[in-house]
Amino acid sequence: MSASVALRLPSIDGLLRHPACLPLAERYGREALLASLRQLLDELRSSVVNGQLSAVEISPDVLAGRVGERLVQQQRSQVRRVFNLTGTVLHTNLGRALLPEEAIEAVQMAARYPLNLEFDLASGKRGDRDDLIEGLIRELTGAEAVTVVNNNAAAVLLTLNSLGARKEGIISRGELIEIGGAFRIPDIMARAGVRLHEVGTTNRTHARDYEAAISPRSGLIMRVHASNYSIEGFTARVATAELAELAHRHGLPLLEDLGSGSLLDLTRWGLPAEPTVRQALLDGADIVTFSGDKLLGGPQAGLIVGSKALIAKIKKNPLKRALRVDKLTLAALEAVLGLYRDPDRLAERLPSLRLLTRAQADIFAQASRLQPAMAGALGEVWSVAAVQSLGMIGSGSQPVARLPSAALCLRPQVSRRLRGRHLLNLEAALRALPIPVLGRIDDDALWLDLRQLDDEPAWLGQLSLLQVAQ
Ligand SMILES: *Cc1c(COP(=O)(O)O)cnc(C)c1O
Repeated sequence: MSASVALRLPSIDGLLRHPACLPLAERYGREALLASLRQLLDELRSSVVNGQLSAVEISPDVLAGRVGERLVQQQRSQVRRVFNLTGTVLHTNLGRALLPEEAIEAVQMAARYPLNLEFDLASGKRGDRDDLIEGLIRELTGAEAVTVVNNNAAAVLLTLNSLGARKEGIISRGELIEIGGAFRIPDIMARAGVRLHEVGTTNRTHARDYEAAISPRSGLIMRVHASNYSIEGFTARVATAELAELAHRHGLPLLEDLGSGSLLDLTRWGLPAEPTVRQALLDGADIVTFSGDKLLGGPQAGLIVGSKALIAKIKKNPLKRALRVDKLTLAALEAVLGLYRDPDRLAERLPSLRLLTRAQADIFAQASRLQPAMAGALGEVWSVAAVQSLGMIGSGSQPVARLPSAALCLRPQVSRRLRGRHLLNLEAALRALPIPVLGRIDDDALWLDLRQLDDEPAWLGQLSLLQVAQ
């Protein structure tokens, strides 16, 4: 029997009275300290039985120090700010669009005070939360009515269930898409209670394919914007206007899921063309769904716009209550939509559009300016160059289009065999900074695309803390 088996852990009571623990109880509260101490002792217990610990490691002084570290960790917010230098502007895993100041102020107001969320101040009667943005949406899209839900996936689910449950939904095989995070059109249709009736082929679908599928069982025709891929070559799709005409001739609604969609023609800022909500409605789509936090540049939300009668039907669905948005989202959304009334200043005021339209020369100048500091922080082993690069919009908008950008390109000056490990170590070191820095590894280098770096002082200020394992 080894001597260490006989080691005993200090008692909780003893530790609570330990001089090093008293300030911890003061700072974090006795309950939190107790919980952390219990966790720590539980973890150590099995190691003690296995005889893996020494007496020093379980001395009250050492344990008090370790519980202090643990409390600091547990106190720190799990929701952390990061630097998104991946080159993808609307990055789904990094929170997509950044809100403009106007929206941040609106969120603060809505968080702090009671508000007329469902109260009509003119009549003094109960109101409807969708009414708060209906006027703006009508003006900006030409839609008759709107309802807002938690995100676009919810918008599609709710619309399908409201308009097509127990009937068939007709859709082209070229549009049966999957979007990251298990959003697949066939699965959503099934969950919405709509029977999928697929028509055409992957690359070509004709009006006659839709026509042949229509029967008394049909409930709607659906069109989905191919967000994250493109079909090129020998292709054919039916224009929305023609499809709407066909649907209406048979008394069916046409639902168009635009995904990102846009309220304005983005080509005026030199960005790739993206279908606008107004155009889809003009072409005859009865309902259009799109996200609040993609190209729109607002909070996470799903907007359902279109004909008054169909929106009324959607709003009566009990699922609407389960999927509705909260007051903070509505406040932010109204503020963002308000900025769209003045398109001439939109690119200055809406952060996502400002970042998407930053000129490559401007980003390159920034890369050149920051190159010496980065090279200094990394030392001999790394070559650091300011280079031109290609980024993307993200969130499924324009999957093949690339945004001309500029980056710091960090290359390890080591043998080919060691390069991979060096790159992973650097990536981990950047992630371990107080404000984690996220780039992308490609072509044996780590790229920091600077399109989205607007807080240079904060970025520079933490470079001295960078510690790359060898
Ligand atoms: C992104 C997207 C969705 C899902 O939208 P969320 O706002 O992420 O829920 C649905 N359909 C299409 C075509 C999309 O591009």
